[in-house]
Amino acid sequence: MKHIEHIGIAVRSLEESIPLYEKLLNTPCYKIETVESEGVRTAFFQNGNNKIELLESTDPQGPVAAFIEKKGEGIHHIAYAVTDIHAEMERLRSLGFQLLNETPKEGADNKLVCFLHPKNTNGVLIELCQEKSGI
Ligand code: ZN
Repeated sequence: MKHIEHIGIAVRSLEESIPLYEKLLNTPCYKIETVESEGVRTAFFQNGNNKIELLESTDPQGPVAAFIEKKGEGIHHIAYAVTDIHAEMERLRSLGFQLLNETPKEGADNKLVCFLHPKNTNGVLIELCQEKSGI
């Protein structure tokens, strides 16, 4: 597990939240990307060494829609960069953490990702992400 790669924030509307975050961070959104597998549209901001990912649900039954329904808008997950996602998943699995996907899946911003169940991590949804090479 390396540094925090980004923080994911669930929002109702990217259209409204992108200008807000552009003002707040004083930097333009550098990428908008739909992640079909997660039912979300994402928007990314680079802020010094940190990244912020805004998540808007494209699916009314999707996980981000369910999150907002339950908790309202706000911090949704913390993503940690890893060098070898398979090894890290194996390590965490052997320690009893519950993985939400058994194999890494395609995430936004050129990443392979895996999520950990928040019940094992004090209520925080954790994302592991590994930069895909050669693209
Ligand atoms: Zn993320």
